[in-house]
Amino acid sequence: MGFAICGHIVGQFMSLFMGALSLFGVCPRASIVDSVKHILSVTTSLPMAPTNPPPDLQLADQLPGEGVRGDGMYVHVPFCRHKCHYCDFYSFVDAQDRQEEFVARIEIELQQWARVQRGELQTLFVGGGTPTMLRPELLDRMLSALRGALKWRAGAEWTVEANPETVSEHIAHVLAKHCVTRVSLGAQSFQPELLAALERTHDPASVARAVGRLRQAGIKGINLDLIYAVPGATIDLWRSDLQATMELNPEHMSCYGLMFESNTPLGVRHKRGEVKAIGEDAEVQMHELAARMLADAGYEHYEISNWAKPGHRCQHNISYWKNHNWFAAGPAASGHIDGLRWRNVPRLADWLQTSGFAPVQDVERLDVDGQVGETFMMGLRLLDGMACERVDELLAKGARATVRRIAIAKFSADGLLEQVDGRLRLSARGRMLASEVAIALL
Ligand code: SF4
Repeated sequence: MGFAICGHIVGQFMSLFMGALSLFGVCPRASIVDSVKHILSVTTSLPMAPTNPPPDLQLADQLPGEGVRGDGMYVHVPFCRHKCHYCDFYSFVDAQDRQEEFVARIEIELQQWARVQRGELQTLFVGGGTPTMLRPELLDRMLSALRGALKWRAGAEWTVEANPETVSEHIAHVLAKHCVTRVSLGAQSFQPELLAALERTHDPASVARAVGRLRQAGIKGINLDLIYAVPGATIDLWRSDLQATMELNPEHMSCYGLMFESNTPLGVRHKRGEVKAIGEDAEVQMHELAARMLADAGYEHYEISNWAKPGHRCQHNISYWKNHNWFAAGPAASGHIDGLRWRNVPRLADWLQTSGFAPVQDVERLDVDGQVGETFMMGLRLLDGMACERVDELLAKGARATVRRIAIAKFSADGLLEQVDGRLRLSARGRMLASEVAIALL
């Protein structure tokens, strides 16, 4: 769960970009992106701590003195029941001994954000890790702190990530009590052998059980995450996963192609040749099958990896793709304000020892050219693309303006980009080559 946007200080923008691209892997060829789950799912969490971390900085020193406006808030809860071997998010097995300390520290961080907040937040995303690993009384306390400390727009979207086996009736009740509008469940697959290949510890039946408990408690929006292109998967198994998911009638579905991240046990085994990827052609077929089946079932394909019933698009993730501002709390949480990106220190013990805002790393202040590049990279993930006026405005700025203009003309001539109803967007073929387009426009 959780997707990360992370990067390294100005000047290392390319590393940020490549990291972001790895999240974008719908399918290898396709791949700009699969997940901003979070630069995402975008954004929001983060890879594991580096071995030799750079010195931590103080966020308060980086923020404008007059206060800041944010569209969203991301909170990272790093606890998991088990560390899945494909996962490079900052998460670890919860020994149940630091949960209370964790929530108390989050409360302090929220007070800092309350001090500088201007305007109202529109969305909350609590990701991880597995936020529902928190004991119910602590999840209750953390959600109360979020509601009480910060100013929210009426009817703000609140999303909490969960793993199916952690959704007890008590947890479901706590989520509903705090008016959580969406719960995002990591289903990943309904095939026991593929769940085993992913090292997921839940059984397929636990997904329906969790959905039932959430519905019973009154949760109106449910997202189910699926992973395709798992070693051992076939197109028939994938079809079966999609059918099983749709039978549960979620309002939203995310389908991500498995990535072999080099800093994970699965990535290492893949590099050694012990695990084989299923191949790009099969991966593309799986993505296309999802697009067909979900469209037939009435889901709108609104982002490369995301589908929603009308009125149920994830506003929080859309704000990432539109490069809006968001606050961040929790170890390794990443935030963005007007071109300033950072991530909180990705070490729980260090984060717990501090007070005030969390110490931060990977602080990056994008210049105009960097902001333009990111806006293109993220905006073209949305199937609606970007308004042509906005594209013109962006093409008038930045050192690479001419390069970008030429690239857009070429991709349009090649049929990878198209203009429809005054918007520039990736064509169906362009979505399969999205990473190439993103690199050229970055
Ligand atoms: S449940 Fe697995 S994939 Fe999700 S954050 Fe935890 S370790 Fe990573």
